[in-house]
Amino acid sequence: MAETAADHLASIRDRIAAAEHEAGRAQGDVTLIAVSKMFDAPDIQPAIDAGQRIFGENRVQEAQGKWPALKEKHADIELHLIGPLQSNKARDAVALFDAIHTIDRDKIARAVKAEMEAQGRELKLFIQINTGDEPQKAGVGAREADAFIARCRHDFGLTIAGLMCIPPVDETPAPHFALLEKIARRNDLSCLSMGMSGDFETAIDHGATHVRVGSAIFGSRSYPA
Ligand SMILES: *Cc1c(COP(=O)(O)O)cnc(C)c1O
Repeated sequence: MAETAADHLASIRDRIAAAEHEAGRAQGDVTLIAVSKMFDAPDIQPAIDAGQRIFGENRVQEAQGKWPALKEKHADIELHLIGPLQSNKARDAVALFDAIHTIDRDKIARAVKAEMEAQGRELKLFIQINTGDEPQKAGVGAREADAFIARCRHDFGLTIAGLMCIPPVDETPAPHFALLEKIARRNDLSCLSMGMSGDFETAIDHGATHVRVGSAIFGSRSYPA
């Protein structure tokens, strides 16, 4: 019989628990974000039925097409934006999402702050760090991280929960996870959003508090040709 999203979820939860144990961390320390980008409501519903409540999407517009109805049915769903945010989408993002992992420049920090105040909403915020200094990738350079975190706190009045990174695809991820952990520690930040389907156990070993797992739960994504 074909494995379902519920089977995959159960196995990912087991692997997270084992990795927590292996790293000497408390059970339940790590939050699983099920990344449902490119999947529609009928594919997502079985994961909700299996008890998953925290989901990640990387595009505001795509999320707007499926999540308002699902959130209406399940009031306790928590939605995380894990993809780049444009400032003209800040209003929609703050209205729909409960957390944003990709704060990475002054303009976005200001726009998110203004929208949270206007809408009376408080989102959980992560700053994305471009740990590999890849020119095509979003995120604050590792060398600018301390200054940007300080500006978010003191100039923009934001409460920052933690840091997020996406290691370069062609490099071993562990040094990037270690770097993110180091930047978080020296800035007194407790949350680390790192680790995907292929490397979440390594991320947990390096202190990840939020892992973002997509294809290992929902299957591979078919991108339009
Ligand atoms: C798509 C995506 C993920 C999930 O990736 P998988 O390899 O499918 O687990 C995690 N984080 C971000 C930022 C993503 O865009």
